[in-house]
Amino acid sequence: MNYRCVHRWSFSEWGGSLALREEPLEPPSGREVTLRVTHCGMCHSDLHIQAGGFDMGGGKLSSLERAGTRLPVTMGHEIGGEVVEVGPEVTGVAPGDRVIVYPWLGCGDCEVCARGDEQLCSKVARNLGIQLPGGYADMVRVPHERYLVPIGDLDPARAATFACAGITAWGAIRKLSPVTSDDWIAVVGCGGVGMTAVALLSATSPAKIAAIDPDPAKREAALANGATAAFDPGAPDALRTIGKACGHAIAGALDFVGGESSSAMAANLVRRSGEVVIVGLFGGEFRLPVPMFPLKSLTVRGSYVAGLHDLRELVALAHRVELPKVPLDLRPLDSVNQALADLAAGRVVGRVVLQP
Ligand SMILES: [Zn+2]
Ligand SMILES: [Zn+2]
Repeated sequence: MNYRCVHRWSFSEWGGSLALREEPLEPPSGREVTLRVTHCGMCHSDLHIQAGGFDMGGGKLSSLERAGTRLPVTMGHEIGGEVVEVGPEVTGVAPGDRVIVYPWLGCGDCEVCARGDEQLCSKVARNLGIQLPGGYADMVRVPHERYLVPIGDLDPARAATFACAGITAWGAIRKLSPVTSDDWIAVVGCGGVGMTAVALLSATSPAKIAAIDPDPAKREAALANGATAAFDPGAPDALRTIGKACGHAIAGALDFVGGESSSAMAANLVRRSGEVVIVGLFGGEFRLPVPMFPLKSLTVRGSYVAGLHDLRELVALAHRVELPKVPLDLRPLDSVNQALADLAAGRVVGRVVLQP
């Protein structure tokens, strides 16, 4: 393979399809590393990135372009691969290493970045797969070796999905207060990330798990991955049915949809002093009668991916505990446009992983 040239699937207008482009790739300098991509997971966020922004409710859209993202964009932020070349200052990483990549890069210098939460850096966002070219390519350039996490003998396709789906699920779970085996945790939305949360909860939490999704196939997959019960949010009287089935003991609800009806459902489902963590970016406005906050002593918070330390923790966890297998849908990289269309149409169960 020629390490001086990279083939990237990128879009050059917002909302446009991806086309293959061949571009030169300079040798890595300083602490940079070049990887040969072997696997790249596809995230629902890619649909928003491709569209150029997120639905902020009331007909308003956020704009990646106004926030400084330049075209063309090569998406793909769940990158797994093999190191092929390292810059002259790189230590502890060598060609042949099998790694996944932490893609949520900040400035790298501020206090927030120093504690390992680069995803929350307020100075600069230089995420791989948004501002920097991502993994829908045969090679990827990583700016510093510290963003690489060795995966040992883990399945590389599955490990690649840890970089977003995995840590997003893990970061949300870690925000919930401790629970007991009498408590329930509701997982609202069982796509790739929600399904990962069901699997991680069943491996690490004593609580019972309520999986909530309108798709019967996803409900079935959630039950197979450790959910105690599964519910259709569109069924008549769903709130009352779910509340009763869970003994009105839902201590926490993780909203992996992040839409108006899902967030309202999560807030209504939790018991008094319950906690809602909103993770999904479907969009819209959060609507709830204000007195519900004091009357229920309700906590509502958000969670955005997670830190580099969370990714290392998750990889260590995957080595120690047999995590239930979330379904993967392996496809060739050159079918990326079809895969995005399938994801947009809700025709994907689990996680698509593309292979160059
Ligand atoms: Zn993602
Ligand atoms: Zn920073």
